[in-house]
Amino acid sequence: EQIREERMAYLAGEKRIKAVTVAFTDIEGRLHMLDYDKKYLLKSYDNLTFDGSSIRGFSAQAESDLRLAIDWPAFYWLPADIFGAGKVLVFGFVMEKDGTPYASDFRARLREATETLYAREGIVMNAANEIEGFLFKGRDAERHYHETNAFEFISTGGYYHSLPGDSLRAFIDTSAEAQRAMGFSNEKDHPEVAPSQFEMNYKYAELNVAADQVQLYKLLARQVAAQMGLTASFLPKPVAGVNGNGMHTNISANKDGKNLYFDAKGRDGLSAKAWDFLNRILANAAELCLVLNPSVNAYRRLDPHFEAPNQIKVSPTDRGSMIRIPLGNEQSARIEVRSVGPDANPYMLYYALLKTGLEGPSGEPEDTTKRPRTRFLPDNIFDAIRLFKGSRFLADALGEDIHAKFAEVKLLQAERCPKALGAIVKACEIQFH
Ligand code: GLN
Ligand code: MG
Ligand code: MG
Ligand code: MG
Repeated sequence: EQIREERMAYLAGEKRIKAVTVAFTDIEGRLHMLDYDKKYLLKSYDNLTFDGSSIRGFSAQAESDLRLAIDWPAFYWLPADIFGAGKVLVFGFVMEKDGTPYASDFRARLREATETLYAREGIVMNAANEIEGFLFKGRDAERHYHETNAFEFISTGGYYHSLPGDSLRAFIDTSAEAQRAMGFSNEKDHPEVAPSQFEMNYKYAELNVAADQVQLYKLLARQVAAQMGLTASFLPKPVAGVNGNGMHTNISANKDGKNLYFDAKGRDGLSAKAWDFLNRILANAAELCLVLNPSVNAYRRLDPHFEAPNQIKVSPTDRGSMIRIPLGNEQSARIEVRSVGPDANPYMLYYALLKTGLEGPSGEPEDTTKRPRTRFLPDNIFDAIRLFKGSRFLADALGEDIHAKFAEVKLLQAERCPKALGAIVKACEIQFH
């Protein structure tokens, strides 16, 4: 309430601001933005409505009008040199007409889940993302893909490579600077293994903030690239024969300033709490996979030859395993979930990981007399949808309706895009922009 008053007074007094962008995310992870005139917003902030019917997987015709409630603390100035002068963005929560939270808005649901966990146990869950992407020639490389059937690299450099004057370097610098200006805690950024590939790393943040950062970063990266006449692409596997794009997410839990996942005497330096969380993720990994990899294209990435995991297991070293335990200490002990693609809905991702890690069925105890058989993640979206649909636990955790709706939206997409052999990307796979 106090933050709302402060922000509103600030908006009213700040002459450079004429309009306010309110952003929310649909079930598939696309960021949507509505621009409200500032004077209108200040007058009607508690009565904002919009038509949700044309947002796929969001609202049926009959319930097309939805409400937006502004999340005042999630307020950002967008850097003027990239977005133009006087631009601010604030996140909103989507609500039903009667003001109850809209079940497809995972931003609101994640908020609720994390608040409940904190109220009950005083625990704050954190995540640190490593977001990878490619920089391609042309402003509209994704949109015109069906004409050319190819993406063109803008740089031939590989890991940590840097050439003076290289556009990849300039792009990385500009987007890192812009984020610092927006108050993000980026930790490091670097060109990645494949030519023309980049990665941005963040300091851990509470799950809600970490998810907002993903959305803002992708928006910003695309805008920076467009300004340079290039395309930033977060397709999981845009080019055959080289690494794809991952979004490894590093998860830890904190209570009273202490990292609950650290235990010097625990296996691989992790506490029993961390092991319990990760074992539940592994036990439900095949069913969860669709949430972590929600596109046809994502399944082309999951190939350990390109450092992207497809094995349902945990390891401190083997990058073919979906969870890795990075070398950690008291502060940095964490689990790294590597099987996530950068086109996942980050709010739904954290909501599902949180629910599963805390409450998911823990599966059969391992038979230690036999050599464990390796289990694999689904290698195509049809199997992933089938496994997702079959999970009683996920239906309960996400809600029957949303569980069914998500599977349905994904199946429609998958059917529009028959299995493509040969060409790594089909135009129908490009759906996130
Ligand atoms: N690009 C790889 C992936 O798809 C990760 C490579 C790395 O970070 N070393 O997950
Ligand atoms: Mg990394
Ligand atoms: Mg990487
Ligand atoms: Mg990593």
